[in-house]
Amino acid sequence: MRRARKLPPWLRRPLSVDKTFAHTEQVLGSLGLETICTNTNCPNRGECWSRGTATVLILGNICTRNCKFCSVAAGKPAPPDPAEPLRVARMTEQMGLKYLVITSVDRDDLADGGAAHFRDCIRQVRRRCPDVEFEILTPDFRGRQAAALAILKDAMPFVFGHNVETVPSLYPAARAGGDYQCSLNLLRMASETFAGVRTKSSIMLGLGETKQEVEHVLRDLRGVGCARITIGQYLKPSRESLEVAEYIRPDEFDRWRERARELGFSWVMSSPFARSSYFAEKADAS
Ligand code: SF4
Repeated sequence: MRRARKLPPWLRRPLSVDKTFAHTEQVLGSLGLETICTNTNCPNRGECWSRGTATVLILGNICTRNCKFCSVAAGKPAPPDPAEPLRVARMTEQMGLKYLVITSVDRDDLADGGAAHFRDCIRQVRRRCPDVEFEILTPDFRGRQAAALAILKDAMPFVFGHNVETVPSLYPAARAGGDYQCSLNLLRMASETFAGVRTKSSIMLGLGETKQEVEHVLRDLRGVGCARITIGQYLKPSRESLEVAEYIRPDEFDRWRERARELGFSWVMSSPFARSSYFAEKADAS
């Protein structure tokens, strides 16, 4: 596999910290909530937290899979915390959020893959903050997709997200516990099950994929009704993670944005720093 070493200038981004960042940090810390922002060393944390947004990571920070692009710890997770939904609701209230993105680790150890806990978090937040819009970014619910979606049907989010992450040929190296068709199937089922809910996915570039493969992924996603897409640069989040094969130039991301629009995605975020939850609240992204 190719290996890109030196970070190009367009990817150098200092962690900017201000009063709002400190407030975000304080609220999350005082409620004992995890975020995907910190657990994956997201390069956008300074910007997002300073805007007063964060993506909450429910069901713990230990994952039952061990994807090599991700820095979330793998192992045996603790049982779901029944008090977590209320803490997420308090966070939403204290941060004054209008749009909340919730994600989780993979929970292959749970019979429902964690779907009921997602539902409980949404319900609890709605009780306290009825106007909040939700975006959920779920695992693939392998082997229990229909059951998981049936549980979530009672707490429909505004956007249902599941990331394919990379092209299928790189799954063995990057996402060995995943299955590309299984991910596509979840998005197809979500599009069909939740009328009026947008489905969303995300792909990282720079892991060694070809342009043709990226084109195929975009077409596959449109084929299962996926309406929203983010396309961003893979950045090695920890020492043990996969190496970056290539730093994709910003103008290449511009071309993918155009291509995704041509293919019919209604919401496209394509830039080196695009992540699935980056500016997720924007009504229109391009
Ligand atoms: S892009 Fe998402 S994961 Fe990254 S800091 Fe922003 S909200 Fe957190």
